[in-house]
Amino acid sequence: MSRKYFAQKRVLVTGGCGFLGSHLIDRLIEQGHEVLCVDNLFTGSKSNIAHLLQHPRFEFMRHDVCLPLFVEVDEIYNLACPASPIHYQHDPVQTTKVSVHGAINMLGLAKRLKCPILQASTSEVYGDPTVHPQTEDYWGNVNPIGIRSCYDEGKRCAETLFFDYHRQHGIQIKVARIFNTYGPRMHPSDGRVVSNFIMQALSGEDITIFGDGSQTRSFCYVDDLVDGLIKLMNSREGFTGPVNIGNPHEFSIRELAEQVVAMTDSGSKVVDLPLPQDDPQQRKPDISLARSELGWEPTIELREGLEKTIAYFDALAKESTSV
Ligand code: NAD
Ligand code: UDP
Ligand code: UDP
Repeated sequence: MSRKYFAQKRVLVTGGCGFLGSHLIDRLIEQGHEVLCVDNLFTGSKSNIAHLLQHPRFEFMRHDVCLPLFVEVDEIYNLACPASPIHYQHDPVQTTKVSVHGAINMLGLAKRLKCPILQASTSEVYGDPTVHPQTEDYWGNVNPIGIRSCYDEGKRCAETLFFDYHRQHGIQIKVARIFNTYGPRMHPSDGRVVSNFIMQALSGEDITIFGDGSQTRSFCYVDDLVDGLIKLMNSREGFTGPVNIGNPHEFSIRELAEQVVAMTDSGSKVVDLPLPQDDPQQRKPDISLARSELGWEPTIELREGLEKTIAYFDALAKESTSV
């Protein structure tokens, strides 16, 4: 897209070496902005930003957001936080710290700079929802002491901090509740369902369904998600969210497994393993608010998104066997 349509800004993206952050940075650079990527490489990888390292409008800083950060920018996207259950449960205390201390530091930065700040919140704030589909006014059903709580409660507390900084200090906040997102650059072994199923199907291993596979998720392709985040950041002054950003097409996990097997022409067989504790039974965003406030809705169907993601993992597997 032509640069003349965008006023150039200096944009901070925390968690920029991760799956979503690196795609967001690509889009911001494409739009003509300067990007500062801050990441401690806990789950992210420099390979996700390798193509940008020589770019004149891109800068990488290795830094933990639990520590104060003094930089000069015009807007902040706060994405730093491990996102897959096996990653965030690996060091649960650190997970809550990143969400809470990270939010405090980034809000402190936004307060000093008087700049807008967007929080990557999550559908996990709804826990195992009793309202379906989930609307933003639903307060959720979250276990405060379970194995997912470090992430769910950490993200809920971050939302509280965002709204208190907004009310108390007048910070311009934008809170996105992101639903399950997939696409190229997901970590092949981070345990999330789309990457697991594709990797298993491509290598002929068993496809591992947790539980009976009747639980549902609604999968959003990363390009649509990035579009939603940027529209939210550029939404009218005073619009804070929280707003659901996700794809409302709901699939059971068994349907996903079947679709991946069919699309990869895989000989893998599907096996059932125990369901992890507190695994939500259903999840589907109501995106009426995103439609009316942001003029946003996803455009990429699961089949098209899976094709691109399968091609990515296929190339990755070939690359690793050729070295
Ligand atoms: P990811 O694990 O690929 O990326 C997270 C990034 O944050 C990584 O690069 C990691 O190294 C970095 N990070 C972690 N702790 C840090 C710290 N203390 N300081 C600096 N950097 C740190 O995950 P993702 O899927 O790209 O998720 C990005 C954000 O979006 C997260 O906040 C996540 O909670 C949120 N989110 C993602 C999804 C999804 O489906 N992908 C859904 C809901 C919310
Ligand atoms: N902070 C930061 N960068 C800044 C300004 C603040 O990292 O440019 C951190 C600061 O270290 C503090 C946190 O953000 O721990 C919250 O800042 P705030 O001004 O709200 O709190 P205070 O400094 O008054 O405790
Ligand atoms: N899941 C599965 N097999 C896997 C990985 C995940 O059946 O190999 C299930 C998991 O139990 C959950 C759903 O797929 O019900 C989505 O899991 P993911 O970790 O991707 O996201 P989240 O649970 O955080 O929505």
